Amino acid sequence: MQKTYLLAPGPTQVPDSSLLAMARPMIHHRTPEFSQTFKETAELLQYVFQTDNDVLMLAASGTGAMESSITNLFSPGDEVIVVNGGKFGERWGQISETYGLKVHWIKVEWGTAVDPAAIEAILTENPAVKGVLTQASETSTTVTHPISEIAKLTKDRDTLLIVDGITAVGVVPLPMDEIGIDVLVSGSQKAFMLPPGLAFIALSGKAWKFQETATCPRYYFDLAKERKNLKKDTTAYTPAVSLINGLKEALLLIKEEGIDNTHARHDRLARATRAAATALGLKLLAPDSPSSAATGIYVPEGVDGGKLVKYLRDSMGVTIAGGQDHLKGKIIRLAHLGYVNTFDVIIAISAVEMALVKLGHNVELGTGVGAAQKVLLEGYE
Ligand SMILES: *Cc1c(COP(=O)(O)O)cnc(C)c1O
Repeated sequence: MQKTYLLAPGPTQVPDSSLLAMARPMIHHRTPEFSQTFKETAELLQYVFQTDNDVLMLAASGTGAMESSITNLFSPGDEVIVVNGGKFGERWGQISETYGLKVHWIKVEWGTAVDPAAIEAILTENPAVKGVLTQASETSTTVTHPISEIAKLTKDRDTLLIVDGITAVGVVPLPMDEIGIDVLVSGSQKAFMLPPGLAFIALSGKAWKFQETATCPRYYFDLAKERKNLKKDTTAYTPAVSLINGLKEALLLIKEEGIDNTHARHDRLARATRAAATALGLKLLAPDSPSSAATGIYVPEGVDGGKLVKYLRDSMGVTIAGGQDHLKGKIIRLAHLGYVNTFDVIIAISAVEMALVKLGHNVELGTGVGAAQKVLLEGYE
């Protein structure tokens, strides 16, 4: 018998209360019963997003919400700055170019964070720039970008700060109203502890102003239409009823834990994972500005990272992520976001230690686990 453990940066594990809520018999979505659930869920989303802005729910994966922020806020020919420090940064640029926007690319070395001065330089030279698009947590490189610093640059300009918080919301504090984020996007299969299929998006007052004049084509992802329906506790089109039932339960778990504690837990699990890697003599991909959602670790010389990921999955039942593009085979990514705690991290680290030994790299078994345990003890009184 093999037991399986899902420890990838999305999809993530789903708690029992959400699984059971999603298994409930189907109800019609134009009913007082569904409207009540929808209303409560929308309010809980504001709690986790830490905002007074409406948080819209779209039946899509996270990329749908990313695309909707381009099509609802910009017009063909508009100039935007894209922080391209990994696969998801690249995606912002690809969506923008698809809709005819002019992209000022900022290429950031994988594993490092963007330097806000680079953004400031482009803004100063190109006052027409209407948006800065970035990740808060670039999942492909396990990097955190300095969102508060970037917000200081866009706040007093006629420029929107649009943040992909898909592995940041519910992981680290990102109070958009306070910091000055204009658009914050997330998705269900990351810290929201649900199956894939829902995307979330919140817009500031400044962003809604841009929405009034933006002319990119849009139909399904019409955010003004969604907001109008949200005010009536419903959606423009058929909502993902079962996922929303599950979402309410997942959000209640966060509410019960308290969002500050949720952030503290993610921080602790991330520090424990980094401590383990370092104790094992392995190099971190993003030592200076690490994400709290997942930790990228270089595999030792002579070990094939692809084989390591495959061995962990097929022989040990532990699913983690490898590297993409030029980091393929060179790194592993251990995720610690969503429905995870102390012993998920212990499982991941002990499995990596054992798999490394099996693939011929000698590590002292327990070294990483011990280092992690020291950090993880902080979580107990
Ligand atoms: C997972 C992820 C996405 C993509 O979301 P999909 O749900 O696959 O569309 C985008 N950005 C980041 C940072 C992610 O981690």
